[in-house]
Amino acid sequence: MHSKVVSKSGPAAHTAAIYLARAELKPVMYEGNMANGIAAGGQLTTTTDVENFPGFPAGIGGQELMEQMRAQSERFGTEIITETVSKVDLSSRPFKYWIEDEEDAAPNTASTIIIATGASARRLDLPGEEKYWQNGISACAVCDGAVPIFRNKPLVVIGGGDSAAEEAIFLTKYASKVTVLVRKDKLRASSIMAKRLTAHPKVEIMYNTVATECKGDPEKNGLLRTLAIQNVVTGETTDIDANGLFYAVGHVPATKWLHGQVLTDEEGYIKTQPGTSLTNIEGVFAAGDVQDRKYRQAITSAGSGCIAALECEKLLAEEEEAEDAPVVEAEKSNTNGAVPEYKSNPMI
Ligand code: FAD
Ligand code: NAP
Repeated sequence: MHSKVVSKSGPAAHTAAIYLARAELKPVMYEGNMANGIAAGGQLTTTTDVENFPGFPAGIGGQELMEQMRAQSERFGTEIITETVSKVDLSSRPFKYWIEDEEDAAPNTASTIIIATGASARRLDLPGEEKYWQNGISACAVCDGAVPIFRNKPLVVIGGGDSAAEEAIFLTKYASKVTVLVRKDKLRASSIMAKRLTAHPKVEIMYNTVATECKGDPEKNGLLRTLAIQNVVTGETTDIDANGLFYAVGHVPATKWLHGQVLTDEEGYIKTQPGTSLTNIEGVFAAGDVQDRKYRQAITSAGSGCIAALECEKLLAEEEEAEDAPVVEAEKSNTNGAVPEYKSNPMI
């Protein structure tokens, strides 16, 4: 059998790996090879400065932060393999799994698995989007909203849910004006968020409106300047000033590769027991954005990676203890074949 534990990559996986390696559980990490379109190291490799991860008062580049996490995982003995896991069989333990392009080979096995494959922000693939991505277009206002190119400038948010409301309100701290484009005639956001959004003096909401093209400086690394929009009811098109464009049109968790073997919600996020990393399968844990549709931050991912590692360690220790425990004959014969009532607390 491969070592005891397999996990993935990103802040959740590296945190889990550090804890597991320090507990001498010899974790094996599959960090992915452009899995889900994201480089090894996860979503933070796609951003510039990370200013809200504690311990770096001057901020730290996303790529550099992930390199440091990787080095810390390796320092304690995590085996890191730059491959994508493409197939799993979770029907019995040890679990079986295969890596990309080797699906017909004999399976690798692991007694426990921590799934930390993250999520990716949904994009709209508008004309011009690729050119101005990270040069005015972002999918994370909390992460990127404070950068100088957005200060006192007109910004646009697309989406009508809670994320759009939250991001738009957050951006009002920096923007001269925030326009929210909602494709329907109403918001999907909860009433409290909708109320805050509609009442904000710096926010204009344009209903029944979609973006059709991102325009800006023509040169390489040029910035976004304008957004072409269309009213879907009247068909009318116009250009609006937009130095920043923020997508808040949902996220896509990386769970397709599990082929429904782990319980997810209707959007594909893995369901964990509240406050834990426990999935519906004993020995399979989930951490980070792949099980978090609400917060999706590096620090919350790292925190849940820690929880997954501690719960994984506890399960393995209990199983080892059970294997080592001598069979008590008296207890066996006392049952007379009847199944004793289960009591979680023997004092009850
Ligand atoms: P991810 O970082 O998504 O990592 C998952 C990894 O698993 C990826 O490398 C992926 O390729 C790999 N993978 C997927 N499938 C497989 C597979 N089948 N086999 C092997 N590997 C696989 N948060 C902050 O707190 N502060 C910020 O400033 C900030 N800035 C951001 C900027 C941008 C542009 C984006 C997109 C996000 C930002 N975030 C920020 C959010 C933060 O990046 C995420 O919350 C965090 O990275 C989630 O960590 P994770 O470990 O759950 O997963
Ligand atoms: P969401 O609720 O799924 O909303 C996504 C929004 O994007 C919807 O308004 C949707 O429009 C729009 N959209 C989707 N595809 C689009 C497209 N192609 N073009 C234009 N618009 C498009 O996602 P979310 O806002 O990220 O919220 C996810 C979950 O997290 C929710 O349960 C939410 O309550 C929760 N959350 C809560 C808070 C909070 O409580 N503070 C903050 C953030 C998130 P339609 O409405 O037309 O489908």
